[in-house]
Amino acid sequence: MVADGYHSLVDGSNNVIGLIVAAFAFRPPDPDHPYGHRKFETAATGLIGIALLALAWDVLTGALSRTGSRPFPRSGPSTGRSWR
Ligand SMILES: [Zn+2]
Repeated sequence: MVADGYHSLVDGSNNVIGLIVAAFAFRPPDPDHPYGHRKFETAATGLIGIALLALAWDVLTGALSRTGSRPFPRSGPSTGRSWR
């Protein structure tokens, strides 16, 4: 559930980054950038890749850290203890 939330957050952020960079990267060459601005697109792609790798690392380490921990709470009538 948390991983899905992170996934949506990173996807949304990446879409915003992509839109901003696309608007910039397709400008024609100018005196400061005589070869055009397309390399900004490549740089943004690397940034998005790093964000996705960080997300994957967080989800993976979170899942591994919970391995072997206590089980899910029991459902049903209350026994006075919510964890067993
Ligand atoms: Zn420029």
